[in-house]
Amino acid sequence: MKKIAVIGAGTMGNGICHVFAQNGFQVALIDVSQDALEKAKATIASNLDRMIKKETINEQIKTETLSNITIFTDLATGASDADLMVEAATERLDLKLKIFTEADQILPQEAILASNTSSISITRIAAATSRPDKVIGMHFMNPVPVMKLVEVIRGYSTTDETTDTIMQLSKTLGKIPVEVNDYPGFVANRILMPMINEAVYTLYEGVAGVGEIDTVMKLGMAHPMGPLQLADFIGLDVCLAILRVLHDGFGNPKYAPCPLLTNMVTAGYLGVKSGRGFYDYSNGVKDATIAPNFVK
Ligand code: NAD
Repeated sequence: MKKIAVIGAGTMGNGICHVFAQNGFQVALIDVSQDALEKAKATIASNLDRMIKKETINEQIKTETLSNITIFTDLATGASDADLMVEAATERLDLKLKIFTEADQILPQEAILASNTSSISITRIAAATSRPDKVIGMHFMNPVPVMKLVEVIRGYSTTDETTDTIMQLSKTLGKIPVEVNDYPGFVANRILMPMINEAVYTLYEGVAGVGEIDTVMKLGMAHPMGPLQLADFIGLDVCLAILRVLHDGFGNPKYAPCPLLTNMVTAGYLGVKSGRGFYDYSNGVKDATIAPNFVK
């Protein structure tokens, strides 16, 4: 594999582009928004600068990494000669189906089509293409240049050959891949989201406050971040969407999103990205305080 088309230049797309480019791959970074593309290149450059300061890379690696990246606003121009597509566009089924249908017509027949989706069925996406055997989940974690895990998700029709190629490729990127099957939430979010939802229920039922819940999980379970703070970082809207996928996919009431989470998303309190969730970020992420309505 030489050329990778990364679709979507947001939070995840720029990180995925960064790791491929730093490992010597030619990357076509494609987004419908020119603004997102410019921001992604600036973010990658500043992340590389931070790595130079920490002495994990040198100036030459920065120059080479940036020279491996070309930006495009059009899938047909950017991806026609790619060996692999990694899609990291907005988490919406209709959008992913459209991108995969188009990519299936544009990328060479032997190319693999991967998605970085957090929760959408790989089998469903694969069914929209003429090559379901070559469709797979390549679920990176945020921030991509730092986090080691890649959850590699086999759709119902994904072959051993496709899986082995993506497992090997993930290792080439310095990551640790873990192979899982395609069921709602895969492994990461199937376990993480019910924990976050239970933390929200614990708050909703008045068992304990925001600070107490997060402190119990940090000090008691050695989690680096409490579940409510983590939910704020992931985005409460994203957590709610994934819980709905679990609830719909399994039809089991144990995955029903807590009404408090639903209310907060409806009211626009989405966590860090909106400035307030369980915590208040008006003085920055480092100086976050418990949101006023949760102060006892
Ligand atoms: P984001 O909103 O930061 O970026 C999405 C980008 O997709 C935007 O720049 C948008 O312009 C672009 N886009 C929309 N439609 C497009 C199209 N038709 N063609 C090309 N680009 C298009 O989102 P994100 O947080 O980077 O998430 C991207 C994917 O990664 C989602 O599937 C999400 O579930 C998954 N994911 C996110 C995280 C996370 O922590 N944010 C972690 C793991 C996986």
